[in-house]
Amino acid sequence: VPRARALAFLESKTDWVIRTRDRLAARAAAHPAPAPCDIEALRSAAKAELPTRVEELARLHGFRYGRVTIRASRTKWGCCTGDNNLSLSLFLMTLPPHLRDFVLLHELCHTVHHDHSPHFHALLDRLTGGNEKLLSRELRSHSIPAR
Ligand SMILES: [Zn+2]
Repeated sequence: VPRARALAFLESKTDWVIRTRDRLAARAAAHPAPAPCDIEALRSAAKAELPTRVEELARLHGFRYGRVTIRASRTKWGCCTGDNNLSLSLFLMTLPPHLRDFVLLHELCHTVHHDHSPHFHALLDRLTGGNEKLLSRELRSHSIPAR
């Protein structure tokens, strides 16, 4: 390949690299992933807020549960073990408070029904004033931030 053509080729690729880099930077700015320090901030906010809120909701609705553990889970907002310990994602702190409560209530309902049976949904729907489907749809429009 003649030197001039090789250089022209490289130059055209340089343009492409710059354009792609700019496009990716713009996309990252539009959807920022939490930086590691933000995750630590979320973790301390979660530790300060979530166990207290679970206790309030449990007292309000008469649930009994074991321990509350905060994890950096990116696959689910929360889960409830067979012996009624709750594991909660620190990314719950990225949700609006009413959806955070909805997840906590969902996990508390699992202390009574360890499944997603009609009984489970009937209980959760009653505790959310008949808004389970609405809240569930709203929750699905939020996702756990990607790494
Ligand atoms: Zn569930």
